[in-house]
Amino acid sequence: MYEYNYILNKYDKQPKFTSRSPQDFGASMVSRQARKKEDVPLFIPAIMDGKGRKNENVEYITMIVVDIDSDIRFLGFPNKNRIRPEWENITYFCYTTFNTSQRTPKWRMIIPITENIPAAIWMKGGWDASMKIFGEMFSINEKEFIDKSCKNPARAYYYPSHPIHTGEPKQLWNYGKILETSEIYKRIEERKPKKIKKYKPLYTPKRGKDSEIAKKIELEKCPAARKQFCKDAGIDTKTIQSNDGSINEVGYGFTCPNCRRSDATFIYIDGVNAHCNHRNTCGWSDSLYNLGVYWGMYR
Ligand SMILES: [Zn+2]
Repeated sequence: MYEYNYILNKYDKQPKFTSRSPQDFGASMVSRQARKKEDVPLFIPAIMDGKGRKNENVEYITMIVVDIDSDIRFLGFPNKNRIRPEWENITYFCYTTFNTSQRTPKWRMIIPITENIPAAIWMKGGWDASMKIFGEMFSINEKEFIDKSCKNPARAYYYPSHPIHTGEPKQLWNYGKILETSEIYKRIEERKPKKIKKYKPLYTPKRGKDSEIAKKIELEKCPAARKQFCKDAGIDTKTIQSNDGSINEVGYGFTCPNCRRSDATFIYIDGVNAHCNHRNTCGWSDSLYNLGVYWGMYR
């Protein structure tokens, strides 16, 4: 059963709950003639707490609804061949909306899901993940076509309608497998920034051991010592031009002690510390002295 709410018109503040079988739902979504779209009732693909039509009163989202109604970027009303093969068997309902025209196609796609999504999750990544699925279905970058304002959980959508005499409504129903809600959760996870592997300093110099402190400071302050460090450690150096135009000499290509990759490591000869530039997945940095101890150069 599909569970959702409807309101009689856009001023109706009290959503009414209903649930229908897929076939009854499809039948209720057949386009009706209307003088203006405001004469048509609306549905809210959500379960609400009964306290009125507000975003904070939405408990669950029960269906994905995608609105294609941009005046700038068009996506034609689809036929079954337009949908990528891996998605062609899922259940969906597409229909043209009141203001559609040959030149500016406007339509809506409803995709029922196996399990309702808590509104809080919908707001925190669920909507974006659902729109991404739509993008995958049509092999498009969904961000170019979809308006962010549709994210509101209490958003209401007009039932299908068309102007009297002039309208030529289109609909495309597909009764197949219901989209697994886990597909949405999977994409929420994929979009989260990757966890960075934590690293500890390679070495902590003994307190009060003057020779260690002196060496550490020398490697922090003295380019000649840093250059010698690279030489002693077998690290190649080269000069590079930075974005701001400055020329810098760097040591590069050593194995990162944290992530073990060597394609993004660097040491500025005139700079501080050694670094791994895989910022999103590693981001390691430590002093040359600690690196030297770690490599057995000083003990
Ligand atoms: Zn690394």
